[in-house]
Amino acid sequence: MSEAATCRRCSRPVVREAENFETFERMHWSCFHYEFEHQAAGSPDDDPDIACRDPACPARAFDREAQPDWFADE
Ligand SMILES: [Zn+2]
Ligand SMILES: [Zn+2]
Repeated sequence: MSEAATCRRCSRPVVREAENFETFERMHWSCFHYEFEHQAAGSPDDDPDIACRDPACPARAFDREAQPDWFADE
């Protein structure tokens, strides 16, 4: 293991995805998602509490009006 990784978006340690630290631009997976993928994947206004169309979007855990994910039939 290398030195403890620190997320450049939230400045907290990256533990679980440390081996993918470089892949996620030196961020947590969730920080990477919100920084780069979330709005592009369809969340209006980039609100992190509104689920985007990424089936792995963390907001799906509590957004009861989440739109269908991008694997769903239109
Ligand atoms: Zn982070
Ligand atoms: Zn999202």
